[in-house]
Amino acid sequence: IFDEFSIKTLIRPVVDFPSPGVIFRDITPLLQSPKALRMVADSLVQRYVESDFSHIGALDARGFIIGSILAYELNRPLILFRKQGKLPADVLTESYRTEYGEAFLEVHADSLCEGDSVLLIDDLIATGGTFIAAAQLVRRMGAQVYEAAAVIDLPELGGSCKLQDMGIPTFTLTAFG
Ligand code: 5GP
Repeated sequence: IFDEFSIKTLIRPVVDFPSPGVIFRDITPLLQSPKALRMVADSLVQRYVESDFSHIGALDARGFIIGSILAYELNRPLILFRKQGKLPADVLTESYRTEYGEAFLEVHADSLCEGDSVLLIDDLIATGGTFIAAAQLVRRMGAQVYEAAAVIDLPELGGSCKLQDMGIPTFTLTAFG
């Protein structure tokens, strides 16, 4: 059974990180609780066990943790969406905004084909910029996004709404206002 309260208590608020005025939602206490991590993973596995997407797309870096558990459990190919300069072969690149300015997200150019359908995974949706960049990369390869899933939504930052306006369904396990 998914216990949202106990998950929330294992997400630590860190004030003024990475910059003054920001409350960073730190999931490392959750990762340090085998019971909580299993609860998060099992909830997502349960949601997607009957779904017919072709690939899991995990977002650098905390998306890799949950994304790899899902790829293993659901027996689907795992694709990495990485920050610039990390992937060794030919890449596609998409720019996005962060709190510091512009950043770039990359994916191997041969990782998806036309008609593929991708479940995107990250730890948190804030402004939605990172998921939107990943979705553009998916679309540039002729594939589509099945859903964008995260542990945490920060709805006041508008990312989940923006994604839904772009035709990308979102799913999150909990939210902080
Ligand atoms: P967005 O692109 O939606 O504005 O920001 C989401 C991305 O930044 C995700 O990759 C996420 O890991 C990271 N991020 C931004 N703020 C936080 C936060 O408060 N907590 C965590 N865990 N990640 C954050």
